[in-house]
Amino acid sequence: MSYGSSTGSSAGAATGSASGISVRQERLDRVREAMIASDVDILLLSLGADLPWLSGYEAMPLERLTMLVVPVDGQPTMVVPRLEAPRVDHHEALFDMCPWGETENPLAVTASLVGAHRRMAVSDRCWSTFVLGLQQLLPGRTWVDSSTVTSPLRARKDDAEIAALTKAGAAADRVAAQLHGGQIPLIGRTEAAVSADISQRLLDEGHDKVNFAIVASMENAASPHHHASTRVIGLNEVVLCDFGGTMDGYCSDITRCVHTGPVPAERQEIYDVLFASQAAGVAAGVVGVGCQEVDRASRKVIADAGWGEYFIHRTGHGIGMEEHEDPYMVEGNHLPLAAGHAYSVEPGIYLPGRFGFRLEDIVVSTDSGPLPLNHTDHRLVVVEA
Ligand code: ZN
Ligand code: ZN
Ligand code: ZN
Repeated sequence: MSYGSSTGSSAGAATGSASGISVRQERLDRVREAMIASDVDILLLSLGADLPWLSGYEAMPLERLTMLVVPVDGQPTMVVPRLEAPRVDHHEALFDMCPWGETENPLAVTASLVGAHRRMAVSDRCWSTFVLGLQQLLPGRTWVDSSTVTSPLRARKDDAEIAALTKAGAAADRVAAQLHGGQIPLIGRTEAAVSADISQRLLDEGHDKVNFAIVASMENAASPHHHASTRVIGLNEVVLCDFGGTMDGYCSDITRCVHTGPVPAERQEIYDVLFASQAAGVAAGVVGVGCQEVDRASRKVIADAGWGEYFIHRTGHGIGMEEHEDPYMVEGNHLPLAAGHAYSVEPGIYLPGRFGFRLEDIVVSTDSGPLPLNHTDHRLVVVEA
């Protein structure tokens, strides 16, 4: 589910409305302020979502180096393979271009642009082969992750980003509604076939790419990140579907469970606990409370009902250009929720060898309260198809 695995197609998308030129200029200003605040005097952005967020250009995961060099006190420069340069949406106001040819050493080019700057921040997802090479050429510097600078900025979405997340969420909702409506047949099909069906529908509903489509039936649903196997879905089974994609550079992520026949009382009881847990987590996401309070609210409902040991992961993750990014809804995260934080609320109850349930929405914190971006029926819907 990593952002960097995409093809070039989403680079064009990243230059869409959510990151137009004025937006990028404003982000660059905020990055410079954050660099000063975190005592960083040069920022190096390569693979990962920081680069498209700031520049509109997504680097291909290639052996050829792409690196946006952002000094705190000067014009940024995009070091890019000459053959990739035409794909860069270049605006002179934002950065200079430095295309390098096949016989040049791009690390030496980057090192010369770094010059006398000493406190470096480098992309969290930059390959070690590049970081180690730069460290040899630039001895005596300090190095931190670029997320030190960018993560608090990227975590708080602006209006255009919230609009993009809302649009992607609505598209995922439509696929979930098709699942509920029986338009995605389940009984007698393999998990893999249903996963492929969901993936195609994510594209049909407007996603540019599919990031994952987990389909997990019965005992497979007890494994949170089970993907999709050759197991054939039968009658009277739990089927957990967790899927999402990227649209205009921003991600969707939704989980709904369905039941292929009348729901036995024990399964309904457990699902009702999960339903209440997820609602409690969503409601807890009030601006100013620590992220861990969302986790605690969801976890308390499940623990109070006696299923606490079967809720084996954090309650949620931030979402934006990446499926999983800051802020995380997890015990120990004291970061206060702020307007614009976008994250999942996805508690689960997993009974090994039997079945599992998870229920997930994306939520945005706003000054007037938590705003869910997913609205498809939250109940355990019976699908007899
Ligand atoms: Zn996950
Ligand atoms: Zn999910
Ligand atoms: Zn999720």
